[in-house]
Amino acid sequence: MYRTHTCGELRAKHENSEVTLAGWVHKVRTHGALTFVDLRDRYGITQITINSDDDLDTDFTKESVIQIKGVVVKKPEANKALETGEIEVIAKEVNVLSKSEPLPIDNNATEDNRLKYRYLDIRNNGVIDNLAFRSEAVLTVRNFFRSENFLEIETPLLVKSTPEGARDYVVPSRINKGMFYALPQSPQLYKQILMIAGADKYFQLAKCLRDEDLRADRQPEHTQIDFEMSFVHQEDIQAFVERLMKDLFKRTLNKELDSFPVFSYDNAMARFGSDKPDIRFGLELTDVTKIGKETDFAVFKEAEVVNAIFVEKDFSRKEIDKYTDLVKTYRAKGLAYSKIVDNKFDGGVSKFLDASVQEKIISAINATGKTGTVFFVADRLRISQTALGHLRNKLALDLELYNKDDFKFCWVNDFPLFSYNEEEDKWEPEHHMFSMPKPEFVNDFESRPGEVKGDLWDLVLNGWEMASGSIRVSNPKVQERIMNFIGLNKEEANEKFGFLLDAYKYGGPIHGGMGIGVDRLVALMLQFTDIRAVMAFPKNKNAQCPMDDSPNKISEIQLDELSISINK
Ligand code: ASP
Repeated sequence: MYRTHTCGELRAKHENSEVTLAGWVHKVRTHGALTFVDLRDRYGITQITINSDDDLDTDFTKESVIQIKGVVVKKPEANKALETGEIEVIAKEVNVLSKSEPLPIDNNATEDNRLKYRYLDIRNNGVIDNLAFRSEAVLTVRNFFRSENFLEIETPLLVKSTPEGARDYVVPSRINKGMFYALPQSPQLYKQILMIAGADKYFQLAKCLRDEDLRADRQPEHTQIDFEMSFVHQEDIQAFVERLMKDLFKRTLNKELDSFPVFSYDNAMARFGSDKPDIRFGLELTDVTKIGKETDFAVFKEAEVVNAIFVEKDFSRKEIDKYTDLVKTYRAKGLAYSKIVDNKFDGGVSKFLDASVQEKIISAINATGKTGTVFFVADRLRISQTALGHLRNKLALDLELYNKDDFKFCWVNDFPLFSYNEEEDKWEPEHHMFSMPKPEFVNDFESRPGEVKGDLWDLVLNGWEMASGSIRVSNPKVQERIMNFIGLNKEEANEKFGFLLDAYKYGGPIHGGMGIGVDRLVALMLQFTDIRAVMAFPKNKNAQCPMDDSPNKISEIQLDELSISINK
């Protein structure tokens, strides 16, 4: 046997056993005739003692891989820091299997160097534990889907270029010269077609590839728990996901989740200033537009809306400047504020607001008898809400208003179906073009696109968007109208999506589903905000992999075979 036990396994009950261990040299210390080795693998560390009288091979360095045969003895005094601390192994045979050079990275290594030596980062900086947790989480999810009768069905990686909102990665076809496949942005169209094919309930742990600019929570490829269900309403899908998440958190983190509150999009924006509200804390927005209109203070009187946030805390000038800069990055013109003491405004905008207005605001924001600071953003509706929403999150972070290991999910329903792209002067799907308008908009969405709400929703965890889902457009006529409305004429719609429109002519059930971001979910479960902590081989900010140097050039022969010439 190569090894009889792992490095995390031996206990006092193994005393006197002959064992074989293998692993990495974590630490070596020499005391006179004795060499102590901490031998490590992903299960733990075991102390090995080598006596120089035994004439064993000690020609190894830190991080070398060695195999030890020896006898387990009880330590006179247990080392409480190690799970195996009750025992040590007295070596009888040492085989140096692979001698390590000094490691090229340490704790001060640059981002790119850590990615270049990602295997060392995984092995030595705890990433392997994150990956082990991810493996557990994914298995739990799979089991849950199976227990609810879903079929795991794989869809192709080489698909037709039918962008879902981002840019496609494309793959040239050698056999069909001049033609390209795309890598899927998600299995969206395939899962819809699987419902027409009678699969009823489908799921897949699917790789999704999008050629976008990167941020901390984005990578060129990410994994989704992708699923679709037939003959369901939105509530059925949401109830299923709630069961799934409760099961996952219970089994992997031993956490009981509260039931997931539901907000409409408009309500979430009004109360939290965000379509992904963090509901671990209060600090809700109050709309004081009406009171503002009663004043002569032009900033309030002339604004489309005035929203306020009250917090029981006094801030320095410097802190207020910092918060003002923050709201400005979200396009707010400014941040008005005042202290509140003894049911009166004090400083800031107090001089512009008479006593009765102050009193009304204090009552509206629930600050009667309290001391603190009120902040206002007077602006266009969404700017006022969004800017204060970001201020709300920042205040909660600065004032530590929540526990880091609290997990609060919520649903945000009734998303707008379309959003207006000012740069390109056109309406675009808010999510993707396969989501159903709410029934009251189906007949005339073209004439009032800004008002249209969809059977379209998000799952949110602690202020992060975890998943999007919708009821799909299973009526090909409505689907064609949506395509036309966002700028695909009949021919283009047919050329790109004819296969989908055709499929719905032959019996398409009502269906809907979601795509839940696994990387983000697992990262948040482990309290990371950067998803790379839970990905084995992520790309850097330039979408490169410093370890294998991809993307790279390919040979002239390969290019020739593909009939491709590079035009820089
Ligand atoms: N395909 C969608 C996405 O990738 C999710 C869905 O609507 O099921 O976001």
